[in-house]
Amino acid sequence: MRRYSAWSLLKAGLSEQRGWEPAWRDASPKKSYDAIVVGGGGHGLATAYYLASQHGMTNVAVIERGWIGGGNTGRNTTVIRSNYFFPESTRFYDFSLSLYEGLSRELNYNIMFSRRGMWSLAHDRHGIEMLRRSANAMLRNGADVEYHEGDEVRRRIPGLNPNPRFPVLAGLLQPRGGTARHDAVAWGYARGADMLGVDIIQNCEVTGFDIRGGRIAGVKTSLGDIASERVGVAVAGHSSTLAKLAGFRLPITSYALQAFVSEPMKPVLDTVVLSPATGVYVSQSDKGELVLGGALDLFPSYAQRGSLPALEQAAGGLIDMFPQFSRVRLLRQWAGIVDVVHDSTPILGESPVDGLHLNCGWGTGGFKAIPAGGFCFAHALATGQPHPLAAAFTLDRFSSGALIDEAAASGIAH
Ligand SMILES: Cc1cc2nc3c(=O)[nH]c(=O)nc-3n(C[C@H](O)[C@H](O)[C@H](O)COP(=O)(O)OP(=O)(O)OC[C@H]3O[C@@H](n4cnc5c(N)ncnc54)[C@H](O)[C@@H]3O)c2cc1C
Repeated sequence: MRRYSAWSLLKAGLSEQRGWEPAWRDASPKKSYDAIVVGGGGHGLATAYYLASQHGMTNVAVIERGWIGGGNTGRNTTVIRSNYFFPESTRFYDFSLSLYEGLSRELNYNIMFSRRGMWSLAHDRHGIEMLRRSANAMLRNGADVEYHEGDEVRRRIPGLNPNPRFPVLAGLLQPRGGTARHDAVAWGYARGADMLGVDIIQNCEVTGFDIRGGRIAGVKTSLGDIASERVGVAVAGHSSTLAKLAGFRLPITSYALQAFVSEPMKPVLDTVVLSPATGVYVSQSDKGELVLGGALDLFPSYAQRGSLPALEQAAGGLIDMFPQFSRVRLLRQWAGIVDVVHDSTPILGESPVDGLHLNCGWGTGGFKAIPAGGFCFAHALATGQPHPLAAAFTLDRFSSGALIDEAAASGIAH
């Protein structure tokens, strides 16, 4: 596989873009692998990449029932941040952020990481207390954060309504936060993994597990049975379905989460803004579209559609914060099925079946976790032990009671 460079781009341009090779092979399944990763989203692909690059395991398959990145990884609003409350969470998400910072170079693939900063706004005294508490926790846990009063927030965020229905009293800025191109993250990891020998098998659904004496022996798929003594499942909103196939239940509820994109405009917004009180967050993509997100549809669902009230709330919140966007037309809307755990902390580790590992529970925030999630999950699959950064995220916290309740602590509701 050829490496990409400024020179290779120029050469391709001069030869009318002929001669590009596919970025990864379309592999057919072999009879057996040293490890199988189910789910070709960011987490599955990153896991395969790190299995090969960090642990020398190259006889690995990623099995994806549709196309890679077609799940939540290609449907999210691309926000990257590490503004959590508990040390376990901040350490993990900050590590992810630092991997993101070097990812384009590591993968030789431009993931368009833009460190444009992320603002969380406070609109009342309770909100201010939450921001101050978050700032103190982040500083103690070693993450970058700045607390600013309302005037400074209005000075720094271009176009923010000076007189909204909910006044902006303060803001928390994480300068290292930002966005990245979501498809590129999936494609970059896929290309990196493929270059190291991993088989990426698309249009292949896992329909069951081969479990012998409580140990995993392989997976059943729409393209036939494949043997492996190590299987990692990274299927986000479908984790409960796969767990059922393996004979256990997970503390996960699946909901639809929507995103909305406007028509493209000239650059007007150079940061990410979240307003919990109005129920919306927004950034502007490199193409110029406003990218909006809001609340979950609060009923369990596997339908990747979403409902109108979430759209109304997000659009209302946007116009309250930026009235000048009221004439901008929304072009597209879609939803993804997210895997929500009640403490809003992921599950990374072994399942009740020996050799069958789980990577799930990312809820509405797992895009930013892809590099660290893949890194730690690869460690668990290769060594059989949780990575120290993810040791607190194992499934047994639901029996021991050692929950990491980010849902209550950092105001990250899902
Ligand atoms: C609208 C929206 C906005 C979001 N915004 C953000 C954000 O701004 N920042 C952030 O950090 N996170 C965000 N998220 C969350 C984030 O997108 C996810 O947490 C993350 O992408 C999960 O990655 P994944 O690889 O685990 O799952 P996915 O990318 O969903 O990959 C799972 C894959 O498993 C496959 N699969 C399922 N069942 C099977 C089967 N039986 N056999 C084989 N394959 C199977 C699916 O087809 C899918 O491709 C958002 C999510 C949504 C929906």
